[in-house]
Amino acid sequence: MSAVEIQEKIAQLTQELNHYNYQYYVLAQSLISDYDFDQKLKELEALELQYPQFADPNSPTQRVGGDITSKFNTVKHRWPMLSLGNTYSQDELRDFDQRVRKIIGDDFQYVCELKFDGLSISLTYQNGRLVQGVTRGDGTQGDDVTTNIKTIRSIPLTLKTTDFPEEFEIRGEIFMHKSAFLRLNKEREENGDQTYANPRNFAAGTIKLQDSAEVARRPLDCFLYFLYTENRRKQFTTHWESLEAVRNWGFHVCDHTKLCNDISEVFSFIDYWDTERHNLSYEIDGIVIKVNDYAQQEELSFTAKNPRWATSYKFKAERVETILKSISYQVGRTGAVTPVANLQPVLLAGTTVKRASLHNANEIARLDLHTQDTVYVEKGGEIIPKVISVNLEKRLPDASPFHYPTLCPECQSKLIREEGEAVHYCPNEDGCPPQIVGKMQHFIGRKMMDIEGLGNETIETFFKKGLLSNVVDIYALKEHEEDLQQMERFGQKSIDNMIKGIEKSKQKPFEKVLFALGIRHVGETIAKKLASYFKNIDALTTATIEEIASVPDIGGRIAESVHHYLNAPAHRSQIEKLKEYGLQFAIEEKEVVLESNSLEGKTFLISGVFADFSREELTAIIENHGGKMVGSISAKLNYLVAGDKMGPAKLIKAEKLQVPIINERDLLALINM
Ligand code: AMP
Ligand code: ZN
Repeated sequence: MSAVEIQEKIAQLTQELNHYNYQYYVLAQSLISDYDFDQKLKELEALELQYPQFADPNSPTQRVGGDITSKFNTVKHRWPMLSLGNTYSQDELRDFDQRVRKIIGDDFQYVCELKFDGLSISLTYQNGRLVQGVTRGDGTQGDDVTTNIKTIRSIPLTLKTTDFPEEFEIRGEIFMHKSAFLRLNKEREENGDQTYANPRNFAAGTIKLQDSAEVARRPLDCFLYFLYTENRRKQFTTHWESLEAVRNWGFHVCDHTKLCNDISEVFSFIDYWDTERHNLSYEIDGIVIKVNDYAQQEELSFTAKNPRWATSYKFKAERVETILKSISYQVGRTGAVTPVANLQPVLLAGTTVKRASLHNANEIARLDLHTQDTVYVEKGGEIIPKVISVNLEKRLPDASPFHYPTLCPECQSKLIREEGEAVHYCPNEDGCPPQIVGKMQHFIGRKMMDIEGLGNETIETFFKKGLLSNVVDIYALKEHEEDLQQMERFGQKSIDNMIKGIEKSKQKPFEKVLFALGIRHVGETIAKKLASYFKNIDALTTATIEEIASVPDIGGRIAESVHHYLNAPAHRSQIEKLKEYGLQFAIEEKEVVLESNSLEGKTFLISGVFADFSREELTAIIENHGGKMVGSISAKLNYLVAGDKMGPAKLIKAEKLQVPIINERDLLALINM
């Protein structure tokens, strides 16, 4: 391909991928399979790698992140990011309406919008391209988080149309959908990582991460709601028009926006969303009311803190009073202790609430909870009921404060709290009943060993009966068939089924086994990375913390946890026993009986399709003669075996690095076949 052709190809792929992105993340329409999308993305990536001179900093390949920011730059806002006035009642909103009328008279309209509960962001575009994303900060200046912003799929990196001002700023709210919040938080809990209290905190914590690849893995979304440019009034006369326009440029603008002719229409909008908000996929905490006309906005102007032409109305969170009866402390699989408030049952937002999360010791201290306190409970973000505060007037004279336990409620070990973490842990990993049971339940989980015929309840029963005390015992169950037959509700058929399931799990690959062990902070992706890097458990066990931490995406905390776990004598002996039972502790590498040494010391890469052999057959031929397959082209590669329909990027790269390119005949000639 000529330089011009390459540039054209890059432009075409970029445009296609941007289009699919927009359709999917802004319009929620899927036009292409994930697989095909990934193929195109990979093709573009390869071209960009090969021709960095043509790579666009706003390419869709940048969505996956990768850049690490050690410290975010502080950027001054061109237009300060003011907060909005708050109103909580119809009366307060009527007062706002009166003040507006006094200044601009009766002839105007309001735009009503939902008030998204996330964090505000200011995006700058030049010539239709995103150049900067800055957090609100203190309103005057914020953090430049552009690399993280680029990973948010619904934020356009380049705009779709051409009718936009040369330079403009657009503001909006970054948030996480409730479903993503629940899913990711559960994953974090399972991996022993700290959980977030609500989607807003999760989104805010994510946008401040230094590793943009991690940001890319956490699905964030963004609604835009304010446009700022020089001479804005030349192009638009109202806020409503500007919203319509930016929607056309490719921005995600919420559909639940309404033009209202008077305050009573505003009230109906509020009434409607006060109940309907529970059905949204994201959280809102109120609505925002803006005077529509730009000239009238200017007339109204600002106070020191807020615009006079806009305000917000906050929904009352449904809140009830009840009595705190006790606090229990639940110990999870990783030993993390979660305090839970046991409440006098009370009706809240349509359901009876008996318990509420208290998160951690800091939260209990902040609330200053005392025995038999009367507490206010809210359904925080419609997800988990939460204790908000104490009604001090009702505190009993003899009430005493709750103290966080120093010992594990399940096994009496002394609890520990790692530096910088809010959570207490029970360190007795192998002797604390809920940890033992939790670890076995994790081990058999669907994404781990996926043992058919063995479920969480059975694990608990077997544990109580003394049949199981750690994961090794699962593989010894078949030696205890008689004991199993004595169990109630456990017929021969279920026993056979279970034993079959257990045997089958021995085939699970190393990465699943590593994940199944339940090492703190080692989730599915981390386990995969460790397995493919170290290849087997012995290499991983003998690696130093520094060596483990040198694997891409593995931080020091994870490395420490892995090292500590694998080197504990109890775990080493468990792993030895599991090995004896036949579980996979290495990436399977096929044993080959060499037919000759003619390719010894030579490296190969196969690409394209071949007339006489499949790629697997060619691989086997190379390996049977002592050659080694590698995954990517470098100057050290000895031969590129090229077939038809090979990707142009590879060919070009091989030519540039002067790697010999051979066909299948040449290969056979090398080994005298
Ligand atoms: P507050 O933080 O209570 O002063 O409310 C002001 C904040 O509400 C703004 O800084 C925005 O982050 C946020 N907000 C959410 N939705 C909207 C919206 N539709 N229009 C303007 N601001 C919004
Ligand atoms: Zn314990």
